[in-house]
Amino acid sequence: MKKTDVLVIGGSAGGILAATTCKKVYKDKEVVLVRKTNTVMVPCGIPYIFGTLNDTGKNRIPDTMITNPGCELIISEAIKLDAEAHLVSLSNGDSIQYDKLVLATGSNPIIPKFIPGYDLGSIYAVYKSEDYLADLLVKIAPMKDIVVVGGGFIGVEFAEQLRKLGKNITLVEMQDQCLQQAFDNEICSVAEDELKANGIVIKTGVKVAKFSGEKFVTAVELSNGEILKTDGVLLGMGVVPNTLLANEAGLRLDQRGAIMVDEYMRTSAKDIFAVGDCADKKCFFTGKSMPVLLASTATMEAKVAAANLFGLRYIRENRGTISAFSTKIFSKTLASAGIGERRALEEGFEIVVGKFATMDKHPGSLPGSAKIELKLIFVKTSGVLIGAQIIGGESIGEMINILSLAIQKGLTANELNTFQTATHPLVTASPIAYPINAAALDALTK
Ligand SMILES: Cc1cc2nc3c(=O)[nH]c(=O)nc-3n(C[C@H](O)[C@H](O)[C@H](O)COP(=O)(O)OP(=O)(O)OC[C@H]3O[C@@H](n4cnc5c(N)ncnc54)[C@H](O)[C@@H]3O)c2cc1C
Repeated sequence: MKKTDVLVIGGSAGGILAATTCKKVYKDKEVVLVRKTNTVMVPCGIPYIFGTLNDTGKNRIPDTMITNPGCELIISEAIKLDAEAHLVSLSNGDSIQYDKLVLATGSNPIIPKFIPGYDLGSIYAVYKSEDYLADLLVKIAPMKDIVVVGGGFIGVEFAEQLRKLGKNITLVEMQDQCLQQAFDNEICSVAEDELKANGIVIKTGVKVAKFSGEKFVTAVELSNGEILKTDGVLLGMGVVPNTLLANEAGLRLDQRGAIMVDEYMRTSAKDIFAVGDCADKKCFFTGKSMPVLLASTATMEAKVAAANLFGLRYIRENRGTISAFSTKIFSKTLASAGIGERRALEEGFEIVVGKFATMDKHPGSLPGSAKIELKLIFVKTSGVLIGAQIIGGESIGEMINILSLAIQKGLTANELNTFQTATHPLVTASPIAYPINAAALDALTK
């Protein structure tokens, strides 16, 4: 039996950050990370294996990220957790005793067992394993027509990448619009227009009723009776927390099956922490349970857990997720952080919305310049920023991170109108019309 100070189970975004942060914070502690797969994919890079990289090997997280900081990597599956005895059994026959354990076992795709024909051949979910994805790359190559089920960001990113390979793509989403969980309606419309302009057929407000075919899927039947002929189906219907190990060990789970944690990522069991997709998520603003699973949230939680493993160093550091997120669909980048206008109103916030549109270089006639459209959502009485949504070029990928910090720090419209920026014609919008300052001013004048 092996003994270690810290054991981390899971080797993706959450697990890697938990192990390496722990090693940096507690230099003298021995840290072991157990991962069940030989290699690990950059999870957010998975769609880009298909239309851009064309090779799973180019989407690997190097193991040196774990071993260089001094953590030990063991490739094996954790099959049993004895929380009382502080003991984890591995599929290779070994067991490891720990002082502190971090569960970072992630999530698995939803398999729609409630839809007849879900188990036909050529219907694929998005598993994160390299072997599975390498096989999927080969299987997708000869297909001409593909139905993507689910218009969330995984479905949309796959649709975009598969279209770049020249496939005929039909995207099916049961809600009124694609990307509704992340964006307000007018931004979803821009995203849908961009998908359509690039030849993707979108069916919204309908569910898949049935997959049909002999051995392999050949058609997808929709709830409105429409039948889509297809060579294959890609499922992007969301993910569920992978918490079998925790459940069997008696840890408390929430209604979705996620491991319940406090602000320090401590579970209901002594000395066990949980981070990332397997841990429950709370809304930053309302404290309500919020199943938004993002790598950026996983890494934040991992850092909070790791720093607090052997004593509380941060006070209530994980205040909940603000769902900071960005994606790129053909030529348009979309980004959001915090609460959108639609959800803010549903939750009962009295809000003021500030908007501004400008070019991301100055003058806007410079080569490579892209239009930015920014929307900021403030609480009316306090002027505090609670949400931001942007459409633009690649430059908005970092702009949303400024706004994410502003939301977390509770900055007001006045502060955002006057905050000082670094500007340069070739790399930013004009200081006379810096979009965050200007959208904040727009809100102030309302
Ligand atoms: C296609 C796709 C695109 C995405 N794009 C984005 C994006 O652009 N931005 C963003 O923020 N998020 C994105 N996400 C979400 C993001 O990938 C997840 O939030 C993130 O991977 C969560 O990390 P995690 O470490 O919690 O879990 P996971 O990535 O699921 O990793 C879990 C790890 O645990 C291991 N494991 C599980 N059980 C065991 C066991 N019993 N023993 C040993 N090892 C075990 C697995 O092998 C794996 O290494 C995307 C997700 C997908 C699927």
